[in-house]
Amino acid sequence: MSEKLLKFTSIEQAMPVKRAAQKRLADFNEVYAEFDPEKAREQASRCSQCGVPFCHIHCPLGNNIPDWLKLTAEGRLEDAYEMAVSTNNMPEICGRICPQDRLCEGNCVIEKDFDAVTIGSVEKYIADMAWDQGWVKPITPAVELDQSIGILGAGPAGLAAAEELRKLGYQVHIYDRHDRAGGLLVYGIPGFKLEKDVVGRRTGRLEQSGITFHLDFEVGREKTLSDLREEHDALLIATGVYRARGIKVPGVGLGNIYEALDYLIASNKVGFGDDVPEFTNGNLNAKDKNVVVVGGGDTAMDCVRTAVRQGAKSVKCLYRRDKANMPGSAREVLNAEEEGVEFVWLSGPEAFLGDNNVSAVRAYQMRLGAMDATGRQAPEPVPGSDFKIDCDLAILALGFEPEDLPALFGAPELRVTRWGTVTVDHASMMTNVNGVFAAGDIVRGASLVVWAIRDGRDAAASIVKHLRQKDAVAA
Ligand code: FAD
Ligand code: SF4
Ligand code: SF4
Repeated sequence: MSEKLLKFTSIEQAMPVKRAAQKRLADFNEVYAEFDPEKAREQASRCSQCGVPFCHIHCPLGNNIPDWLKLTAEGRLEDAYEMAVSTNNMPEICGRICPQDRLCEGNCVIEKDFDAVTIGSVEKYIADMAWDQGWVKPITPAVELDQSIGILGAGPAGLAAAEELRKLGYQVHIYDRHDRAGGLLVYGIPGFKLEKDVVGRRTGRLEQSGITFHLDFEVGREKTLSDLREEHDALLIATGVYRARGIKVPGVGLGNIYEALDYLIASNKVGFGDDVPEFTNGNLNAKDKNVVVVGGGDTAMDCVRTAVRQGAKSVKCLYRRDKANMPGSAREVLNAEEEGVEFVWLSGPEAFLGDNNVSAVRAYQMRLGAMDATGRQAPEPVPGSDFKIDCDLAILALGFEPEDLPALFGAPELRVTRWGTVTVDHASMMTNVNGVFAAGDIVRGASLVVWAIRDGRDAAASIVKHLRQKDAVAA
C-alpha cells in the first residue's frame, strides 16, 4: 500500500472553503471554492483503499473511486482524470451537484469512526484541473460511420448518450426545444450550485466533436416522432419531466403565483444576460417581495436561495413535514438557513388570499400521523391552527410529472406507464417502437443527474448493439 494513503486517522476531513453567506448573497456564483492542490492531495490520501469499496458500489456510475483517489494522492492528476472520465461523462458536474451524503460519501466505510472522504470535491477538483490544463480534447472517432442517431433532449441523459455514440463514429443529432443545450443543468439548477460555463464547456466540446445540435426544435411541433424515426437509424427519447404538480386550494389562480421552473428558468436566463420581459416587469423577480415557497425538495431549496439573492424582503419555505423528513439535501437546507431563509416546518397552504394578485397565504400547522403506504408518517392538519403569512410572490415547488408524450410527439403508438413515464424494456431500454429508446427522467420520473448520465450511457450501449444486430442480419 502506498505510504501516501490511509491517512484518515491523522488528517481530518476538510471541505473546500465555503464563501460567507453575506458574500454569496451578492451574486449567483458557486458557494464552494476549489481545493488547492495540496489540500486535494491530502484529502484524497485519507482513503483507506477498501477491499470492498462501498463508495463505488453506491455511486450510480460505478466510478472507480479508490483508484482515482490513489492517483490524486500520488499527484498523478492526468491519470486520475482519465480514470474518472472513463465511467462519468461529466465528473466536474457530478462532483458539484450529486447528493454525495446519500450516495458515495454516505457509504464511505471510514465514516462511522471518522468523517467520510470528500469524494465529490476531489472528483470536481481533478476534472476542473483537466479543463484548466487542456487535457480535455474534442472526440476524434477512429472511423466515421454512416448511421445516424437522433437524440431528443439535450439534458444529461441525452448528452451522455451522444458522447458515447460519437466516440464510436456514429453521426449524432441532438434536438432540444430550448435555445441552449444542457436541460436542467442550464435552466433548472441555479448558478450557485453549478456555474453555467461549467456546462457550456461540456456542450461546446460535443459540438466541436461533430455532434449536431438542433436547438429551438420542439419535437411534436417541428416534426413528429415518426418523421424523425425516418431520418435516423435509431432514436433516443431523453426529454425529462416538466409538468408541474399542482395544488388544489382556494386562490391558487391569483396573480404572482408561479411554478418553480418558470421562476428558475427566468432567473437562469437573466444570468445569461437574456432579455426576460416577465423578470424586467417585476413579476418573476423577488426583489423587495415577501416570498413564500411551497415544497421541501431540492427544487424548493433552489427557489428560496434564488429569491434571497434577488433581494427579497423575506423568504419563507412552507413544508408539510419536519426537517428530519425533508427530501431536500441537508447540505442545501443548511446553506439556505445561513442565507436567511426561514423554514416553516410542519405547515401547508390552506388558501392564497388577495384580490387580483396574492397578498397573503393562510397556512395551517400539520402533525405527523400514522405511517402511509410508503412507510413515512403522513402529515395531517392540526384543526384550528390557521395562521397568515404576508406574501406577494408565491412559488409552487411540488414536483414534476411527465407531459403526455404520445400526444405531444404525435405518436399514439408510444407506450407509457400510468404515471406517463415512457415504458421501456429495462434490459435494452428500447420502447415498444422498434429502434426508439428512452433514458433519464422520462423513464425514471424526476431523479438525479448522475442517474440520467448512467441511463444515457446504458442506452447508448443498447443502441449500438441494436444497430450492429441489424447490420448482421442485413449482411
Ligand atoms: P432534462 O435535464 O430535463 O433534459 C431534458 C431536455 O429535453 C431539456 O433540455 C428539454 O428542453 C428537452 N425537451 C423536453 N421536451 C422536448 C421536446 N418536446 N422537444 C425537444 N426537446 C424537449 N439533480 C441532481 O443530481 N442534483 C441537483 O442538485 C439537482 N437539482 C435540481 C434542481 C432543479 C430545480 C430541478 C428541476 C432538478 C434538479 N435535479 C438535480 C434533477 C436533475 O436535474 C434531473 O434528474 C436531470 O436533469 C434529468 O436529466 P434528463 O436528461 O433526463 O432530463
Ligand atoms: Fe459520488 Fe456522484 Fe461522483 Fe458517483 S458521480 S462518485 S455518486 S459525486
Ligand atoms: Fe476510500 Fe471510503 Fe471508498 Fe473506502 S469507502 S475506498 S475509504 S472512499
